[in-house]
Parts: sequence; C-alpha cells; structure tokens
Amino acid sequence: MPTNHQLRLYNSLGRRTEDFVPAGQTTGLYSCGPTVYSFPHLGNMRAYVFADTLRRALRWQGTAVRHVVNITDVGHAVADSDTGEDKLEVAAARERRSVLDIAAFYTDAFFVDLAALNILPADEYPRASAYVEQMIEFAAKLDKDGFTYQLPSGLYFDTSKDPGYGELAQMSAEGQLEAARLEYVEGRRRKTDFALWRAEDPGQRRVLRWDSPWGWGAPGWHLECSVMSMALLGEHFDMHTGGVDHRELHHVNEIAQSQAFLGDGRPWVRYWLHNEFLQLGAQKMAKSAGGAPRLADLTEAGYHPMAYRLFLLGGHYRSQLDFTPAAIDAAQATLRRLITRIQPLQPLPPVETRAAAQAATEGDPAAQRLLDTIDEAIAADLSTPKILAALQDALREPALTPDGQRAVIAAADALLGLGLATLAPADLEHRRALADLSGEEKRAIEELVADRTQARQDKDWARADQIRAQLDELGVDLTDTPDGPVWQLR
Ligand code: AMP
Ligand code: ZN
Repeated sequence: MPTNHQLRLYNSLGRRTEDFVPAGQTTGLYSCGPTVYSFPHLGNMRAYVFADTLRRALRWQGTAVRHVVNITDVGHAVADSDTGEDKLEVAAARERRSVLDIAAFYTDAFFVDLAALNILPADEYPRASAYVEQMIEFAAKLDKDGFTYQLPSGLYFDTSKDPGYGELAQMSAEGQLEAARLEYVEGRRRKTDFALWRAEDPGQRRVLRWDSPWGWGAPGWHLECSVMSMALLGEHFDMHTGGVDHRELHHVNEIAQSQAFLGDGRPWVRYWLHNEFLQLGAQKMAKSAGGAPRLADLTEAGYHPMAYRLFLLGGHYRSQLDFTPAAIDAAQATLRRLITRIQPLQPLPPVETRAAAQAATEGDPAAQRLLDTIDEAIAADLSTPKILAALQDALREPALTPDGQRAVIAAADALLGLGLATLAPADLEHRRALADLSGEEKRAIEELVADRTQARQDKDWARADQIRAQLDELGVDLTDTPDGPVWQLR
C-alpha cells in the first residue's frame, strides 16, 4: 500500500509550515481578486496560478473545495488609501467611459487570462458593488459594538480596541504604525485605523454612491472581502490567499474587523497563504507603476500562455521570481520539449486525484515510486519545481510501463495544470497575434459569438454547437464565463 503524504502548508499566521486539516466536509477558500480598473499584469496572474495550485493540491487529496474570488468594482481607493478617489472612477475619467463599462471590460479581460492559463473556475466571483447592503450592516454592527468612530471622512475602525491587531503582519506596534498608510487623515486617532465607510466629500459627488448611516459614500476596500467571504463561505472558513503585499495591511484589517464582528474569540480564518511577488528587473511589478507586461503581450510575441504558467511553477510560490526574456524563452523551450515527448503518448488517462493515480499505477513499481515523489512534493507546501523534475524523470525512466508512464504524466499535470493531455507541438507554432486581425475579422468573430449567445438563449443547442465549431475552425477559443462568453485566438 502506498503511503499518503500529509499536506503541509506555510501559514503566514504564525509563519510556520503546518499540517492542513480541513474543518469540515468542504474546504472554504477565498482568494482576493482583482480590482478591475486596468488589465491584470503578469504579476497579478501569479496570485491566481498559485491559488489554482492550492486547489489542485486539495483536489489531489480528495478534499472538496468551495472557492470564492471577488471582483473589486468599487471602494478601492488609489494608493490603497482611505481617502481620495476610487481606482475605477479615475480609470473611467481617463478612458472617458462609464464606471460600469470599465468594470465589465476589465472583468472580462481577467476571465480571458484565467481561461488562457488553465485556471480552474472558482465557484463564485462576487462583485463588491452587489454586496454593499451587507457591508453597511456589517459596519453598523461594529459601530453598535463600539469598535468604531465617525469622522467627516467616514466611519473608522478603532484598532486600539483590538489587542491582537496586526498579528498576521508580525510587526511591533511601532512598526505597524510606521508601515501604515502615510496619508494624513484629519481626526484619525491612530495611523493604523482604517475606513469601514468612506463618506463622500461634500463638494465631490461620487459616481458609485450609496446612502448609509454615515452619509453617502462607498464601502472601504478591506470591508468588502470580509463581507463577501462570510456571505459565501460562512462566518469561519479554512483558507484565505493573496499576494504577499496583502499580508501587511489588507489582510491585517480584514482579520481585525472580522474577529471584532464575530466576537467569538476564535480565529476567523485558520490558514493564510501568500504568494511572493513577480519582479520585473528587480523592481516590484505593479499596475500603478505602468508598463507591467500582460499575458497578451506574451502571446502576441509568440509565447504560449502555458509557457508563462510553466515559468511560474518552476519557482516555489513563496520565492520571488524575476521575469526576464531569457526566463520566458527557457520556459517556452521546456514546454516545447515536454509536449514533443508527450504528444505521441496521448491520450493520457483522466487522473485527477491521488487515489485515481495510485489505482492507475498498480503493478508498476517504478511508476509508483515517481507518484510517491509527486505526492511528497505537493504535500511539502506545494513544491511545484519538484513535480516538474518528477515529470522530466517520468519521460526518461526506462523501467516504466507505457501505461504507468502515462499515469504519472497525467498525475503530474493534474497538479501543474499545463494541459499536457491535449497540447500538441503545433499549438506552439501557430499562435496568431490578436493584433494581426483586421477590424473586419474581429467584427466577424464577435458577430458569431453574439449569434451563439442568442442561439443558447433560444435553447437552439444545435445551432450554438454549429457556431462554436465554426469559431473553432477560425482558431477561436471560446470560454463561457459568469459574465458571458469571452474569446481568444489559439
Ligand atoms: P490587484 O488587482 O492589484 O488588487 O491585485 C490582485 C492580486 O495580485 C493580489 O493578490 C495581489 O497581492 C497580487 N499581486 C499584485 N502584484 C503582484 C506581483 N507583482 N506579483 C505577484 N502577485 C501580485
Ligand atoms: Zn481582499
């Protein structure tokens, strides 16, 4: 009988690697999602590839997961501050479009990248703007329970009322005060206090605004994630993920307000996991810095999205990675080598869980040994570089039976998510750039997509399938998202 390795994860809360033990039948997982005011850049997508790896690890173990990824379409002020304009409103003014247009457009762009990177769809993608009533109720309870104070600029959470404030950030009180926002807020008692409700300036009417007991305005950014996660996963849930920047402020504040809200003395969420940053030439890659490359920049330059995924998985999620032309070239070359070796072995068996992989390798000791290496690697805080190494070994190991080899490759890919079961070398060669399409070609594709949506609404499935086949012939990949279909060129 093969032994199963216990999944161990590095918990930012306490900064140590711990056994992961689900609290119930289904593991609740919340990942901080995008603020939809611009295209996601490659660094942002690292956060979702990481969360996807975590999901695949849980699936591998046979653990059911409910995954929620929020869409921040209101409330996130520029520079993560408590005052000033919303990122979305600034983008709307810059692009001369409505805030709703901006949100819809960049939400779609996010879904396109998720699909291109083979990221398993979340169960829910709640939009902050749809939960404002619940946010007001949440803040009103904190207000009633004495955790807040009101200023003309809004309702603030009083961090002095929380003796454990900032435990996640592991900083001294002085350190936190230093690290807190540099912005000056008139009347704020401590620099760490943060806005639950951002009241609108009397002279400056917001575009997206709601009435509240603290005046017209918008919710604070931190409040959104507490409210949406509890609404969809229950008051306590298992895991919360995000980029490492959130460990010092956003998640600290989420914890403070949520534990004050619940008041039951229990940790709100037990496991906090953070991915390290993707750097660009030793600089932090940030949307606000401008010039951060997007996935589309890579594909238009001829790289396959899976080359980017492979590049990410070649590093551990808690290590900083430097994005360089040489690194993405190397990843594309490795991907090509892998696919060239694996395509003749297709079809691969549908192996997604450890149990299925063990069954598929029975009677092949060499395959079982490799499988054990893979299981050990994923259990050791998601060590994807070791799984990649095991995958390479599976292509070289002479003692493997052909079926055992297929099963090991499929098992590695169930965790890596590179789509090795279907990729062919030709997929790397014929990537047409979206930019190469004429306006007419683009319009024709969009018309077909709209016709298919109509056919689906009319429940004319035959016609919908026929249009999909037509799009397929044109080299268009179509993904149905909660926001409607999105397409890209293969
Ligand atoms: P945002 O859309 O800016 O709210 O960020 C979405 C997610 O991307 C968050 O989890 C961030 O922590 C994460 N993130 C932002 N920049 C990077 C980066 N350069 N590398 C890795 N993760 C990042
Ligand atoms: Zn969040």
